[in-house]
Formats: sequence, C-alpha cells, structure tokens
Amino acid sequence: MNVIERIDHWAAVAPETIAHISGDQTLTYGELSKRSDALAVYLTERFGDDRSPIGVLGHREPEMLIAFLGTAKSGRPYVPIDTLLPRPRVEKILAISRAAMLLSAEEVAQLSRRKIRGRRKFLERNAPFYILFTSGSTGEPKGVIITLACLEHFISWMLAEQQFAERAEVFLNQAPFSFDLSVMDLYCSLATGGTLFSVNRDLIENPKQLYRALANSGVTTWISTPSFARMCLVEQKFTEAMLPRARRFLFCGETLAPQTAAELLGRFPRAQVWNMYGPTEATVATTSIRVDDSILQKYSALPVGRAMPGTQILVVDQNCHELPANERGGIIIAGPNVSPGYIGRPDLTARAFFERRGQRAYKTGDLARFRDGLLFFEGRVDEQIKLSGYRIELGDVEANLRMLPAVRDAVVIPVIKNDTAQSLAACVLLDARNETSDFELAHSLRTQLSDRLPTYMLPRKFVFLDMFPMTANGKVDRTALARSL
Ligand code: AMP
Repeated sequence: MNVIERIDHWAAVAPETIAHISGDQTLTYGELSKRSDALAVYLTERFGDDRSPIGVLGHREPEMLIAFLGTAKSGRPYVPIDTLLPRPRVEKILAISRAAMLLSAEEVAQLSRRKIRGRRKFLERNAPFYILFTSGSTGEPKGVIITLACLEHFISWMLAEQQFAERAEVFLNQAPFSFDLSVMDLYCSLATGGTLFSVNRDLIENPKQLYRALANSGVTTWISTPSFARMCLVEQKFTEAMLPRARRFLFCGETLAPQTAAELLGRFPRAQVWNMYGPTEATVATTSIRVDDSILQKYSALPVGRAMPGTQILVVDQNCHELPANERGGIIIAGPNVSPGYIGRPDLTARAFFERRGQRAYKTGDLARFRDGLLFFEGRVDEQIKLSGYRIELGDVEANLRMLPAVRDAVVIPVIKNDTAQSLAACVLLDARNETSDFELAHSLRTQLSDRLPTYMLPRKFVFLDMFPMTANGKVDRTALARSL
C-alpha cells in the first residue's frame, strides 16, 4: 500500500476516527477520504491531462489536508503556501512552479463538498508528489520537488524505527505545512490512523492558551523544532503532568542543545528524545539517534546519528573525496529519499545534485564529521542560517533589501547568542541620506521589506553605514560587521 492507500484504508475501517484537530475544527478519516476524492475529480475535470502543480494557500485548516490528498489523488503535485507569506512572494512561487491554480482553504471547503463520482488517477512513484519552497540565496525562493518514492522511503523508515501504535497516537503538528518538518507529523500520523493535533499561530502567540490546548491534546508523539520545545520549557508546568501520554519527542531542523534534551528527559521521565537531521532536498530527515543519558554524558555537542537504511551519508573534502572519521568536511546524501531537484531551475539543480553509483545525491552545504560511527553537524559552508527553525539564506534578505528604492547595498548578519541565531541585523548603504532619523528610516525599510518577505525573515535591527569593511581579498568583511553590531 502506498501512503494514500494507507490513509484510505483507515477511512474504510475506522471512518469516524479523528484525522485532524485544528482549533475548534475536526476532520474524520471518512471525511478526509471522501472530500479529497471529490477534489481530485474536480481537478481532473478542470485540467484534464495537464499535470501542473496546484498551489494550496492556508494555515492549519483541515482543508489543507483535503487539498494535499485531493491534489495527489488527481496525479498532480501540491505546493503548500502559508498565509504568512506576503502576496508578491506567493506570486513568485506560483510563477516559478507554473501552478495551474491557487486553492484557498475556503475554496477547498466548497469544492470538496461537491457530490460527484469519478475515477482518480493512478499515482506514479517517480512523479512529483509535493513541491516545497525554501529561501534561495539570490532573492528568489526555490522549489524542492519530492516524489512519492522519496516520501515512501522516508515514511517507511520512520514507521519501522518508531513503531507508532496504530490508531492510538496523537501527533503534535507545530511546523507550518510549508515547512518540511510538518511532512513528518502529517504522514506518520495519517499512515498509522493517528490524530494530527495542530497548534496554530494564534495559540503559539498566546502561551496561556497554548498550554491549555496542549493539556487537552492527549499528544503522544511530539514533533517540533528544538526552538519550540525550548519556548515551552520556559513554563514550569510543561511537564509530564501537562502531557501525561507523551512518549516521544522527535526533533529536526536545527541544533538540539544537550540542555534542552536533558531538561525534557527530566520533566518527561517516560518519554524518549530523538535528534534527527536532514534538508528538505532529502525529504525531511535522513539521520536519527535516540538521545539518552549515556549520549548526554558522553558528548558535549549532540550527534545527529546514523543514516536511514538504503541511504548513505558521506563526509567529503572540497574535491568530493570521502574523508576518514574525525575529519571535518561537507555532507553528501545519496539515496532514494533525495529529490530530483529544484523546479524550473536546472542551473541550481546541476550545482547541488548529481548521480553517485546509480543513486541520486545531494551536496547539502552542511559541515560535519563522523565520530564513533555517529554524524556530528558542525555548521554551514555558506550564508544559510536557521532562525527559530526557519531556513533563511542571508542573500535572500539582502537581495530583497537591495530592491528597495533608497538602498544602494545591504549585508545581513545573524545576531548570535549562546551559539544560536537570535535575530537578523541589516547593515545598509543608502543612495542619499536625508534628515530622517535612523529610527524612522529603519521603520520605513522594515515596512517596505514586509511586502516582499515573511515576518520571520525581517531584520530586527538596521545599521546605516557609509561603507562596508573589506577583507584583504576585497570581500565584505562579515566578521568585522558582526563584531561592530
Ligand atoms: P530545512 O530544509 O528547512 O529542513 O533545513 C535543513 C538544514 O537545517 C540542514 O541542511 C541543516 O543545516 C539544518 N539542520 C537540520 N537538522 C539539523 C539538526 N538536527 N542539527 C543541526 N542542524 C540541522
């Protein structure tokens, strides 16, 4: 059974089981299956043999799930887009992916209620299943194509390793559906007849309501970025008493600090904590390790673990030659979970992807070393960072800043505290300086930038300079700029 057939299986044997809870909305497996079928028929009627992607715009509404499955059942890839994105960025994504249409949650609600009969398409394993857009260094987002085969490889590994109990788990969904961490909770839950419990933006911004919702959630498997768990740990009541059924905390997407893992193990003595690693280009996660007391005692920086079966992780030098253990180099991932590439960008695809011994391989840009057979993540070769779990190319923010009328040049620097990026600072050269105060200027630039970029990519601080410090070989000296902030 492929992942869609598994979901329909639960709809057949347990139609009343709740598939998704988001705020006060719920969706059963029966409804999910029936309504995604109706949407698939609509898309097939409307677009015939055209297999162009379908954009899906929303936040955590149950209609998002209906749209993803309905689009997949019609044989087309879906492109999840969060309502957090400003309209011009949405337009860019639609243009790059050549989407046939953009479906909003409201439209899905209507279209999926149509009473029609029709045959759905056969899902091809090597056809694109979803396309996820991430930050691109030149200011254009890039769309990672994931096939059904990639997704199946990832999900089979997760189910084998974690042994989720069928029809008994409640999975936390914290990541927006436009971020690939959500693929882990969404499909692990749906494939095992579980319930996906989404915390939406309003809840995340209102801690009191968030903790109340969590206490009523019955969450058994917690999947989030480490940043989100750290935020929850600030609340002293965030313990086993609040989440008595929690048995697993699965983390991916950014560095898991040993303190976070240790604190969770202390507060949830019956739960396991796992650290997982991987880029969107290799379908959510490629390595994993259970972090227990022995790992915490042995290592001051946590390993990200071992590769999933069937997939290889190589640590290589600049000439792509494999390095021995304990030596630091770039991470290459090769296996069935690696994406065919970026949609509409053969140039970017050729730079990062290649074939290795008959397998698709991806140069991650991550640095790491093997020690005791375990992989240890050690940063990036480029200007890509993680801020509260979000992947940001500093060049993306810079390119968008440079497009503003008053800006001649801009360099964006992460503000680091305790080895973690806390916010962004923009160092800006203006075309002409008038009487406006720095405060007003910063406010104006930030407002203009917010029409182009989502809030999480906006610099908190703006510094206006006459020139940038330069290194000996004529590049902007980012280290000096960071020191001067
Ligand atoms: P994304 O494509 O948004 O999932 O981001 C992928 C990037 O996040 C990777 O290339 C790493 O730089 C970083 N990352 C993912 N998982 C981890 C982890 N467990 N520890 C440290 N960094 C991670």
